Amino acid sequence: MTRGERLAKVVAERELDQLFVSNLTNVRYLTGFTGTNGACLIGGDALIFFTDFRYTERAEHEVGPEWERPEAERELVPQIVGRMSARVGFEDAHLSVRQLARLEAAADDAEVELIPAGDLVEQLRVAKEPEELERIATAAELADDVYRWVLERGLAGRTEHEVARSCEARLRELGAEPGFPPIVAAAENGAIPHAEPGEREIAAGELVVFDMGALLDGYYSDCTRTFATGEISDDDRQVYDLVLRAQGAALEAIRVGASGKEVDAVPREIIKEAGHGDHFGHGTGHGVGLDLHEGPRLATTSEDQLAENTVVTVEPGVYLPGRLGVRIEDLVVVTADGYRNLSGLDKELQVVA
Ligand code: ZN
Ligand code: ZN
Repeated sequence: MTRGERLAKVVAERELDQLFVSNLTNVRYLTGFTGTNGACLIGGDALIFFTDFRYTERAEHEVGPEWERPEAERELVPQIVGRMSARVGFEDAHLSVRQLARLEAAADDAEVELIPAGDLVEQLRVAKEPEELERIATAAELADDVYRWVLERGLAGRTEHEVARSCEARLRELGAEPGFPPIVAAAENGAIPHAEPGEREIAAGELVVFDMGALLDGYYSDCTRTFATGEISDDDRQVYDLVLRAQGAALEAIRVGASGKEVDAVPREIIKEAGHGDHFGHGTGHGVGLDLHEGPRLATTSEDQLAENTVVTVEPGVYLPGRLGVRIEDLVVVTADGYRNLSGLDKELQVVA
Protein backbone atom coordinates (compact mmCIF):
# COMPACT_ATOMS: atom_id res chain seq x y z
CA MET A 1 0.00 0.00 0.00
CA THR A 2 1.34 3.45 -0.85
CA ARG A 3 1.45 6.23 1.74
CA GLY A 4 -1.49 7.92 0.03
CA GLU A 5 -3.53 4.75 0.17
CA ARG A 6 -2.68 4.23 3.84
CA LEU A 7 -3.82 7.75 4.58
CA ALA A 8 -7.04 7.23 2.60
CA LYS A 9 -7.83 4.37 5.00
CA VAL A 10 -7.28 6.60 8.03
CA VAL A 11 -9.46 9.29 6.47
CA ALA A 12 -12.30 6.80 6.06
CA GLU A 13 -11.88 5.58 9.65
CA ARG A 14 -12.22 9.18 10.84
CA GLU A 15 -15.54 9.40 9.00
CA LEU A 16 -14.24 12.08 6.71
CA ASP A 17 -14.96 12.07 3.01
CA GLN A 18 -11.63 13.65 2.20
CA LEU A 19 -8.54 15.16 3.77
CA PHE A 20 -7.00 18.35 2.41
CA VAL A 21 -3.22 18.26 2.97
CA SER A 22 -1.55 21.65 2.63
CA ASN A 23 1.62 21.31 4.71
CA LEU A 24 4.47 20.94 2.23
CA THR A 25 6.43 18.46 4.33
CA ASN A 26 3.35 16.27 4.53
CA VAL A 27 2.75 16.71 0.81
CA ARG A 28 6.34 15.62 0.19
CA TYR A 29 5.93 12.60 2.45
CA LEU A 30 2.79 11.48 0.65
CA THR A 31 3.68 12.25 -2.95
CA GLY A 32 7.45 12.77 -3.19
CA PHE A 33 6.94 16.36 -4.45
CA THR A 34 9.75 18.74 -3.40
CA GLY A 35 8.48 22.02 -4.90
CA THR A 36 7.16 24.94 -2.86
CA ASN A 37 3.56 25.10 -4.08
CA GLY A 38 1.60 21.89 -3.80
CA ALA A 39 -1.30 20.31 -1.94
CA CYS A 40 -3.34 17.17 -2.05
CA LEU A 41 -6.79 15.85 -1.52
CA ILE A 42 -7.20 12.27 -0.29
CA GLY A 43 -10.32 10.23 0.22
CA GLY A 44 -13.04 8.21 -1.41
CA ASP A 45 -11.26 6.62 -4.32
CA ALA A 46 -9.31 9.74 -5.14
CA LEU A 47 -5.70 10.71 -4.59
CA ILE A 48 -5.36 14.13 -6.17
CA PHE A 49 -2.21 16.24 -6.26
CA PHE A 50 -2.29 19.94 -7.15
CA THR A 51 0.54 22.21 -8.20
CA ASP A 52 0.86 25.12 -10.63
CA PHE A 53 2.47 25.33 -14.08
CA ARG A 54 5.91 26.16 -12.64
CA TYR A 55 6.12 22.68 -11.14
CA THR A 56 4.25 20.50 -13.58
CA GLU A 57 7.41 19.03 -14.97
CA ARG A 58 8.94 18.40 -11.57
CA ALA A 59 5.71 16.76 -10.44
CA GLU A 60 5.80 14.47 -13.45
CA HIS A 61 9.13 13.07 -12.22
CA GLU A 62 8.52 13.12 -8.50
CA VAL A 63 4.86 12.36 -7.88
CA GLY A 64 3.83 8.70 -7.96
CA PRO A 65 1.53 7.33 -10.66
CA GLU A 66 -1.26 6.67 -8.16
CA TRP A 67 -1.87 10.45 -7.98
CA GLU A 68 -4.17 12.27 -10.35
CA ARG A 69 -2.52 15.56 -11.37
CA PRO A 70 -5.03 18.10 -12.71
CA GLU A 71 -3.70 21.39 -14.14
CA ALA A 72 -3.98 24.12 -11.56
CA GLU A 73 -3.53 27.88 -11.22
CA ARG A 74 -0.89 29.38 -8.96
CA GLU A 75 -3.62 30.03 -6.40
CA LEU A 76 -4.53 26.40 -5.73
CA VAL A 77 -7.44 26.77 -3.33
CA PRO A 78 -10.35 27.47 -5.73
CA GLN A 79 -9.45 24.45 -7.83
CA ILE A 80 -8.98 22.19 -4.82
CA VAL A 81 -12.31 23.23 -3.34
CA GLY A 82 -13.85 22.44 -6.71
CA ARG A 83 -12.89 18.80 -6.12
CA MET A 84 -14.02 18.66 -2.51
CA SER A 85 -17.11 16.82 -1.39
CA ALA A 86 -19.16 16.82 1.83
CA ARG A 87 -17.04 16.45 4.99
CA VAL A 88 -13.45 17.49 4.39
CA GLY A 89 -10.75 17.45 7.03
CA PHE A 90 -7.99 20.05 6.93
CA GLU A 91 -4.66 20.44 8.71
CA ASP A 92 -5.63 23.02 11.29
CA ALA A 93 -2.12 23.20 12.76
CA HIS A 94 -0.70 24.39 9.47
CA LEU A 95 -3.11 26.94 7.98
CA SER A 96 -2.64 30.64 8.62
CA VAL A 97 -5.68 32.69 9.62
CA ARG A 98 -5.71 34.21 6.16
CA GLN A 99 -5.45 30.85 4.37
CA LEU A 100 -8.26 29.48 6.50
CA ALA A 101 -10.52 32.46 5.76
CA ARG A 102 -9.93 32.00 2.04
CA LEU A 103 -10.57 28.27 2.26
CA GLU A 104 -13.74 28.77 4.30
CA ALA A 105 -15.15 31.30 1.87
CA ALA A 106 -14.60 28.97 -1.06
CA ALA A 107 -15.90 25.93 0.83
CA ASP A 108 -19.02 27.81 1.85
CA ASP A 109 -19.92 28.51 -1.76
CA ALA A 110 -19.34 24.85 -2.61
CA GLU A 111 -21.36 23.60 0.38
CA VAL A 112 -18.42 21.73 1.77
CA GLU A 113 -18.12 21.18 5.50
CA LEU A 114 -14.56 21.82 6.77
CA ILE A 115 -13.42 19.87 9.81
CA PRO A 116 -10.17 20.45 11.73
CA ALA A 117 -8.42 17.09 11.43
CA GLY A 118 -5.26 17.61 13.46
CA ASP A 119 -2.12 15.79 12.46
CA LEU A 120 -3.19 12.67 10.59
CA VAL A 121 -0.21 12.71 8.25
CA GLU A 122 2.24 13.37 11.07
CA GLN A 123 0.92 10.27 12.81
CA LEU A 124 1.72 8.20 9.74
CA ARG A 125 5.17 9.74 9.61
CA VAL A 126 6.12 8.69 13.15
CA ALA A 127 7.09 5.09 12.34
CA LYS A 128 9.70 5.19 9.61
CA GLU A 129 9.96 2.90 6.61
CA PRO A 130 13.28 1.10 5.99
CA GLU A 131 14.21 3.52 3.22
CA GLU A 132 13.61 6.49 5.54
CA LEU A 133 15.71 4.91 8.30
CA GLU A 134 18.49 4.46 5.82
CA ARG A 135 18.39 8.11 4.82
CA ILE A 136 18.43 9.30 8.42
CA ALA A 137 21.30 6.94 9.25
CA THR A 138 23.25 8.25 6.26
CA ALA A 139 22.67 11.85 7.37
CA ALA A 140 23.86 10.91 10.87
CA GLU A 141 27.01 9.23 9.55
CA LEU A 142 27.80 12.24 7.43
CA ALA A 143 27.43 14.54 10.45
CA ASP A 144 29.72 12.22 12.44
CA ASP A 145 32.34 12.57 9.70
CA VAL A 146 32.05 16.34 9.89
CA TYR A 147 32.50 16.19 13.67
CA ARG A 148 35.69 14.17 13.26
CA TRP A 149 36.93 16.53 10.58
CA VAL A 150 36.32 19.58 12.77
CA LEU A 151 37.91 18.00 15.82
CA GLU A 152 41.07 17.09 13.90
CA ARG A 153 41.45 20.81 13.30
CA GLY A 154 41.11 21.63 16.97
CA LEU A 155 38.86 24.01 18.87
CA ALA A 156 41.04 26.09 21.18
CA GLY A 157 42.17 29.39 19.74
CA ARG A 158 39.34 29.55 17.22
CA THR A 159 36.12 31.50 17.70
CA GLU A 160 32.82 29.69 18.14
CA HIS A 161 31.61 31.38 15.00
CA GLU A 162 34.61 30.21 12.97
CA VAL A 163 34.15 26.59 14.07
CA ALA A 164 30.43 26.71 13.30
CA ARG A 165 31.01 28.17 9.81
CA SER A 166 33.70 25.61 8.94
CA CYS A 167 31.32 22.91 10.00
CA GLU A 168 28.57 24.24 7.70
CA ALA A 169 31.03 24.47 4.82
CA ARG A 170 32.17 20.90 5.38
CA LEU A 171 28.58 19.62 5.46
CA ARG A 172 28.02 21.27 2.08
CA GLU A 173 31.27 19.89 0.67
CA LEU A 174 30.06 16.42 1.53
CA GLY A 175 26.81 17.01 -0.31
CA ALA A 176 24.48 17.80 2.58
CA GLU A 177 23.05 21.00 4.05
CA PRO A 178 23.33 22.05 7.67
CA GLY A 179 20.09 20.81 9.25
CA PHE A 180 20.18 23.93 11.43
CA PRO A 181 22.83 26.51 12.30
CA PRO A 182 25.36 24.51 14.35
CA ILE A 183 25.68 25.44 18.01
CA VAL A 184 29.23 25.87 19.27
CA ALA A 185 29.09 27.24 22.80
CA ALA A 186 32.16 27.40 25.05
CA ALA A 187 32.21 27.58 28.85
CA GLU A 188 29.48 29.96 30.15
CA ASN A 189 27.92 30.24 26.67
CA GLY A 190 27.21 26.53 26.93
CA ALA A 191 24.73 27.33 29.68
CA ILE A 192 22.38 28.79 27.06
CA PRO A 193 20.79 25.70 25.44
CA HIS A 194 20.25 27.44 22.08
CA ALA A 195 23.31 29.67 22.15
CA GLU A 196 24.34 31.43 18.96
CA PRO A 197 28.02 31.02 18.13
CA GLY A 198 29.75 34.33 18.76
CA GLU A 199 33.11 35.96 18.37
CA ARG A 200 34.29 34.51 21.64
CA GLU A 201 37.57 32.67 21.24
CA ILE A 202 37.52 29.16 22.66
CA ALA A 203 40.19 28.88 25.36
CA ALA A 204 42.07 25.86 26.71
CA GLY A 205 40.48 23.96 29.57
CA GLU A 206 36.85 24.71 28.70
CA LEU A 207 33.80 22.60 28.01
CA VAL A 208 32.33 23.22 24.56
CA VAL A 209 28.76 22.23 23.70
CA PHE A 210 28.59 21.32 20.03
CA ASP A 211 25.18 20.57 18.45
CA MET A 212 25.02 19.80 14.76
CA GLY A 213 23.07 17.85 12.18
CA ALA A 214 22.88 17.22 8.46
CA LEU A 215 19.97 17.59 6.09
CA LEU A 216 20.35 15.02 3.34
CA ASP A 217 17.74 13.84 0.84
CA GLY A 218 15.01 15.58 2.82
CA TYR A 219 15.88 13.91 6.13
CA TYR A 220 17.56 15.39 9.21
CA SER A 221 20.08 14.14 11.72
CA ASP A 222 20.79 15.69 15.12
CA CYS A 223 23.72 15.07 17.45
CA THR A 224 25.30 16.92 20.36
CA ARG A 225 28.62 16.30 22.02
CA THR A 226 30.37 18.27 24.72
CA PHE A 227 34.15 18.38 24.35
CA ALA A 228 36.91 19.55 26.65
CA THR A 229 39.71 21.74 25.34
CA GLY A 230 42.39 20.41 27.65
CA GLU A 231 42.34 19.70 31.36
CA ILE A 232 39.11 20.73 33.13
CA SER A 233 38.32 21.11 36.83
CA ASP A 234 36.96 18.22 38.90
CA ASP A 235 33.68 20.10 39.34
CA ASP A 236 33.25 20.41 35.60
CA ARG A 237 34.17 16.79 35.15
CA GLN A 238 31.49 15.78 37.65
CA VAL A 239 28.83 17.60 35.69
CA TYR A 240 29.97 15.85 32.52
CA ASP A 241 29.89 12.44 34.15
CA LEU A 242 26.43 13.14 35.56
CA VAL A 243 25.00 14.01 32.13
CA LEU A 244 26.71 10.98 30.60
CA ARG A 245 25.16 8.71 33.21
CA ALA A 246 21.71 10.32 32.81
CA GLN A 247 21.92 10.01 29.03
CA GLY A 248 22.90 6.35 29.24
CA ALA A 249 20.00 5.63 31.57
CA ALA A 250 17.59 7.44 29.27
CA LEU A 251 18.75 5.28 26.36
CA GLU A 252 18.06 2.14 28.39
CA ALA A 253 14.50 3.39 28.95
CA ILE A 254 13.84 3.46 25.21
CA ARG A 255 11.49 0.63 24.26
CA VAL A 256 8.35 0.05 22.23
CA GLY A 257 5.33 1.21 24.20
CA ALA A 258 7.18 3.53 26.59
CA SER A 259 5.57 6.96 26.88
CA GLY A 260 7.41 10.20 26.29
CA LYS A 261 7.07 11.19 29.92
CA GLU A 262 8.29 7.82 31.21
CA VAL A 263 11.51 8.12 29.24
CA ASP A 264 11.89 11.78 30.15
CA ALA A 265 11.58 11.03 33.86
CA VAL A 266 14.63 8.73 33.90
CA PRO A 267 17.45 11.23 33.22
CA ARG A 268 15.48 13.97 34.99
CA GLU A 269 15.42 11.96 38.21
CA ILE A 270 19.16 11.25 38.07
CA ILE A 271 19.96 14.90 37.44
CA LYS A 272 17.59 15.99 40.18
CA GLU A 273 19.12 13.60 42.71
CA ALA A 274 22.51 15.10 41.97
CA GLY A 275 21.10 18.50 42.92
CA HIS A 276 20.75 19.88 39.42
CA GLY A 277 16.97 19.55 38.98
CA ASP A 278 16.69 23.26 38.16
CA HIS A 279 19.48 23.06 35.61
CA PHE A 280 17.81 20.78 33.07
CA GLY A 281 15.14 22.98 31.58
CA HIS A 282 14.25 21.25 28.32
CA GLY A 283 12.73 17.95 27.24
CA THR A 284 14.80 14.78 26.93
CA GLY A 285 14.22 14.37 23.21
CA HIS A 286 12.13 14.71 20.08
CA GLY A 287 11.32 12.79 16.94
CA VAL A 288 13.41 13.42 13.83
CA GLY A 289 12.60 12.77 10.18
CA LEU A 290 11.46 15.05 7.38
CA ASP A 291 11.30 17.67 10.15
CA LEU A 292 14.09 18.32 12.61
CA HIS A 293 11.56 18.41 15.43
CA GLU A 294 8.57 16.11 15.07
CA GLY A 295 6.67 13.56 17.13
CA PRO A 296 7.05 11.83 19.47
CA ARG A 297 8.16 14.21 22.19
CA LEU A 298 10.13 12.94 25.18
CA ALA A 299 9.08 15.50 27.78
CA THR A 300 7.52 15.76 31.24
CA THR A 301 3.95 16.02 29.93
CA SER A 302 4.20 13.88 26.80
CA GLU A 303 1.71 11.03 26.41
CA ASP A 304 3.24 10.10 23.05
CA GLN A 305 4.11 6.41 22.90
CA LEU A 306 7.22 5.02 21.29
CA ALA A 307 6.50 2.75 18.34
CA GLU A 308 8.87 0.47 16.51
CA ASN A 309 10.94 2.26 13.84
CA THR A 310 10.40 5.66 15.41
CA VAL A 311 13.49 7.89 15.40
CA VAL A 312 14.11 10.06 18.46
CA THR A 313 16.90 12.06 20.03
CA VAL A 314 17.98 11.42 23.60
CA GLU A 315 19.56 14.62 24.85
CA PRO A 316 19.54 15.50 28.52
CA GLY A 317 21.75 18.37 29.65
CA VAL A 318 22.84 20.36 32.68
CA TYR A 319 23.28 24.12 32.39
CA LEU A 320 24.96 26.16 35.08
CA PRO A 321 24.33 29.86 34.34
CA GLY A 322 27.50 31.91 34.06
CA ARG A 323 29.63 28.78 34.16
CA LEU A 324 29.08 25.96 31.71
CA GLY A 325 26.73 23.63 29.92
CA VAL A 326 26.89 19.93 29.15
CA ARG A 327 24.56 18.20 26.73
CA ILE A 328 24.95 14.78 25.12
CA GLU A 329 22.57 13.89 22.32
CA ASP A 330 22.24 10.63 20.39
CA LEU A 331 19.87 9.85 17.57
CA VAL A 332 18.29 6.42 17.94
CA VAL A 333 15.80 4.13 16.22
CA VAL A 334 13.30 2.35 18.44
CA THR A 335 13.56 -1.37 17.69
CA ALA A 336 11.57 -4.44 18.76
CA ASP A 337 14.13 -5.15 21.50
CA GLY A 338 15.25 -1.66 22.47
CA TYR A 339 17.04 0.81 20.28
CA ARG A 340 19.71 1.18 17.64
CA ASN A 341 22.06 4.14 18.02
CA LEU A 342 22.66 6.11 14.82
CA SER A 343 25.24 8.39 16.46
CA GLY A 344 28.65 6.81 16.20
CA LEU A 345 30.76 9.32 18.12
CA ASP A 346 32.38 8.47 21.43
CA LYS A 347 30.63 9.73 24.52
CA GLU A 348 33.45 9.42 27.00
CA LEU A 349 34.77 12.93 27.49
CA GLN A 350 36.96 13.72 24.52
CA VAL A 351 39.78 16.12 25.04
CA VAL A 352 40.43 18.19 21.95
CA ALA A 353 43.25 20.63 21.62
ZN1 ZN B 1 20.65 18.79 18.59
ZN1 ZN C 1 17.75 17.69 19.25
